[in-house]
Order: sequence, then C-alpha cells, then structure tokens
Amino acid sequence: MSKARVFDISLFIASLAIAFIPAHAVVLDGSYMQALLLYTIFSSIYFQLRIVTRSGNSTIDYAISYTSSFGIFAGPLGTLIFETVYRSIVFIYKKKTKTADPGEFLDTFYNIGSFTLGGSAAYYLYTLLKPLADRLPLGYWLLFLLVVCVTTLLSSAFLVITFALSGDIKTRREAENLLFRSRSLLDFCKVALTNALLLRLLQMEKWEMLIALFLLNYIVSLSFYSKSQSAQHKYERDKFEQMAYRDFLTGTYNRAHMDKMMKELNQSGEYIGIVVADIDRFKKINDSYNHAVGDRVIVHFADTLERHLQPEDILFRSGGEEFTLFLRNKTFEECKVQIEEILDSLHGNSVSAEYEEQTISVPYSASFGLYYYKADPGHKTSMEKGYVYADQLLLESKKLGRNRLSYRNDLGA
Ligand code: GH3
Ligand code: MG
Ligand code: MG
Repeated sequence: MSKARVFDISLFIASLAIAFIPAHAVVLDGSYMQALLLYTIFSSIYFQLRIVTRSGNSTIDYAISYTSSFGIFAGPLGTLIFETVYRSIVFIYKKKTKTADPGEFLDTFYNIGSFTLGGSAAYYLYTLLKPLADRLPLGYWLLFLLVVCVTTLLSSAFLVITFALSGDIKTRREAENLLFRSRSLLDFCKVALTNALLLRLLQMEKWEMLIALFLLNYIVSLSFYSKSQSAQHKYERDKFEQMAYRDFLTGTYNRAHMDKMMKELNQSGEYIGIVVADIDRFKKINDSYNHAVGDRVIVHFADTLERHLQPEDILFRSGGEEFTLFLRNKTFEECKVQIEEILDSLHGNSVSAEYEEQTISVPYSASFGLYYYKADPGHKTSMEKGYVYADQLLLESKKLGRNRLSYRNDLGA
C-alpha cells in the first residue's frame, strides 16, 4: 500500500479514536437525529454544487462547509456518524453516476477521517475558548471565525500531506498555494457566519429557520454558480468566434469575417475604399527558397499593411498572399495617399528569414487595386461587386508591370 494510502487510513483510525473518547461524549438524542437528517439532506444536495472553478490562481468554491457547526453541536462521535452517512451517500451517488475515481473507496475513508477530525477540532476549540469569547463584544462570532480558519487550515493541511505523499504536489510553492492562496477572507467570513447562525438555531431547536437558512445558502450559491457558468460560456463563445474569424498565420481577419463585414457595410451608407493587395511574383519566392520563407514574407506584408491602418479601417487575408482592406470614411484622395505610403514603405525594404542555416534578406513588392464608392443601400454597387472591381484594378496593376496602384473613383466627376 502506498504511503499516501497509509496516511489516509491513519486519519480514519485517528478519527475513530477521538470519537470514542468517552469523557467528551455528547448525548445523541432526538434533536441530534433531526440535525443529522437535515445536515445529511442539505450536504447531499449541496454536493451537486461542489464544483470549484479556477480562474487564474484563485479558486471559487460555491459550496459551504458545515463541518464546524455540526462538529460543535454533535461532538466527535456525532460528527463521525454524520460524516460516515454523508460520505457513503456521496460514494454511492458517484458509483451510480459513474463519476467515481478509481480510488474512491479509500478516498471516502480519507474524507470521513479528515472531516471528523476537523469537526472534533472545532468542538474542542469552541469548548475551550467559549468562556473567554463570552466576555468579548461579538465574541461568539469572532470565535467562529477562528474556528473556521483552524478547521479549514487543518483539512487543507491533511490534503497537502496526502498529495505530497502521493507525488501530486512536488514543490513547496504548490503546497503553500493549496494551504493559503486558494482561500480568501471573504470565504472564511461566509462560512463562519453561516455556521455561527446554524449552531444558534440548532441549540434553540428552530428547525424551520434552520431549513430556511440552508435553502437561502443553496439558492444564493446556485445563482452565483449559474452566473459564473454563463460568463464562462460567453468567454468560450467569444474565444471560438475569435478563432473562427481570424487567420492563423497572420492574426488578421479571414475571408469568413470579410464576407460578414461586406454584408454589414452594404447597409452602412459609408464612403469606402476597397483595396485588394497582392504580393508580386510570390511563387518565385516560394520556389527559390521554401514555404517557410514564403510564410515569413506573408506575415511581414500583413504587418506592414496593419501598421498603415487607421482606426476604422479593417484588414483581411482574403487569399494566400492576397489581402483586402476596407478604408472607411475617407475621401478618395486620402485612400490613395494611404496606399502610396504603403508602396513607399515596401520600396527598398526586405524581410530577413532563416534559410539553410543562414539569415537571408528577401526583397519583395506588391500591387494594389483601389475601388472607391459610397456603400448606399440604394446604390447599384454592392460591397461584393466593389471587391470584384478592386480585384480587376489589381490585375491592371499587374499587367502594367506590378509594384503600383490602379484605382477608380466611382464618385469622381
Ligand atoms: P503575381 O505577381 O501575378 O501575383 O504572381 P504570383 O507568383 O504571386 O502568383 P500567384 O498569386 O498565382 O501565386 C500565389 C502563390 O502563393 C501560389 C501558392 O502556392 C502560394 N501560397 C498560397 N498560400 C500560401 C501560404 O500560406 N504560404 C506560402 N508560403 N505560400 C502560399
Ligand atoms: Mg501574387
Ligand atoms: Mg495571388
């Protein structure tokens, strides 16, 4: 048997030993039975919510541990009975739903041991310090905060030991993270306040109010949980959308996004310069070197175009080494100047790339076609048609010898 398993079983045996110390026996009467029933029902319902979400380094645990109030009320033996009943229900539930881990049976002993010891620690600490706390203003509530901190740290410490023994955590930092970082003061206050109220209600045998408090806790947790779930779904949806509309190599928008934007801009009434840009004799670059060098040139071209964008403009990779720009809300002259600046910056510029273990310098040029018009809903030209015109203008640039801009102003005299 592994060291971690020996430790788990030792915890269970220690909890048995503490539970059967006769000197501290709490009478397990009818009111204990009622408390046992209610805690078991609500802990089992709560178990469904025991989902810990991780965001960065912080963890959010929606469930509230009721260990301390029950431990103080029922003493070590009462807690052992409760933990045995509750953990067995969880074990059966997990088996039935096929969510049990391979070591679930022994884990159940670990949980019974660890939480019974936690409840017992709460019981002894509370009994010891209660007379002192009674003399302080708000002493009862502060005592609960202390009890909750101690029991939480104790159960975290057990967890660190068993993880360290099984090799699941290896560094001191991981251990510290588990012990301290994942808990916030707010969590402690939440658990302390709930347990302090629960104990008061138990001692007064206010069963209805006890149920109401359990329900309140459950509903609040459930609503936070579902909010965070929908936030998580939105995050995933956004991420997916981002992936669906971005080109992997250059990070610019892709053709799918371009099609979507064209539909939207058709209705916009904006003045738009549609520009199609294509690297000249790109096949030669691919053939002279290799695809990786070609890719470097494509990325360099995309970066250059991006640098010359103005806030409202959009850049798409519309084909292999072909990009499309939508220049928005500018005059025709401004669009022309913008493209001429790009041509100037490419002139005499080159891309450095790795080829056959050497750094090479690859010069390249590009040709452009610019079609300018107003995207009016009533206009005979659509964005889709405008793109075809810009592409024809690009072809003209290619025919005229490349490395240039051809344009047409649909609104010109
Ligand atoms: P032109 O001046 O007339 O545009 O000549 P060209 O050689 O650029 O002609 P063309 O547009 O037909 O060639 C494009 C080449 O780009 C063909 C294809 O193999 C290559 N290509 C397409 N996508 C990629 C890519 O993602 N990476 C690389 N390295 N090459 C690509
Ligand atoms: Mg080309
Ligand atoms: Mg091309």
